[in-house]
Amino acid sequence: MFFIISENEKLRGDGRAYDELRPIKIEAGVLKRADGSAYLEVGGNKILASVYGPRESYIRRLLKPNTGVIRVRYNMAPFSVDDRKRPGPDRRSTEISKIAADALRPALMLESFPRSMVDVSIEVIEAEGGTRCAGITAAAVALADAGIPMKDIVVGCAAGKVNDEIVLDLSEKEDKEGQADVPIAIMPRTGEITLLQADGNLTEEEFEEALDLAIEGCMKISEIQHEALKTRYSSQ
Ligand code: UDP
Repeated sequence: MFFIISENEKLRGDGRAYDELRPIKIEAGVLKRADGSAYLEVGGNKILASVYGPRESYIRRLLKPNTGVIRVRYNMAPFSVDDRKRPGPDRRSTEISKIAADALRPALMLESFPRSMVDVSIEVIEAEGGTRCAGITAAAVALADAGIPMKDIVVGCAAGKVNDEIVLDLSEKEDKEGQADVPIAIMPRTGEITLLQADGNLTEEEFEEALDLAIEGCMKISEIQHEALKTRYSSQ
């Protein structure tokens, strides 16, 4: 999958350098009716995130007297992947919904909203590898667009191992053919990690390298999140 150009510079199957993100764009405030929203494209991924709330919790068992609660629903459209995806939740989407809520929660100042709920929806319209990180990134922009008080804007990115090389932001092909995938999410201001998963085999050294590279990717994407929000508020 690599084309060797020189000893130090290898290009990946899609022409990217080892530390290069796929082309990415983020737009904030794309939906009229939701309280907050964002649309994100990275590589072949197309993701729409929306936020409703905070509003009074109507589900008693989820209500917390001292704080608000965040719920995330990650969903892949049936037409988002090569083989039609059966509509409705499955094990994978349930897991990603949970880890996305866990990744976003530490940044939210939900104590200001007792007994209330923030509902986040991450809709994957087209998938091409790395949708959990892209979904978290889009959801964080939608949460900011909804005006929810936050300590930071969470951002996600993955690094992994393909053909024995540690590379940034795996495409679907690299994810499938590669040896490992390390998706993370961070709060960029403090560097606090809010999501850390690892799939595949890595030595301790490779894991450290992948983690550092994924953090670098997060910092680059964080700037694009901020640009999207600036554009949104300067156009109002
Ligand atoms: N994928 C797919 N069908 C599915 C689930 C995933 O084709 O039912 C593809 C999709 O492109 C996704 C990629 O496989 O982005 C990698 O999926 P993974 O579970 O690793 O999660 P992701 O990398 O999207 O966070």
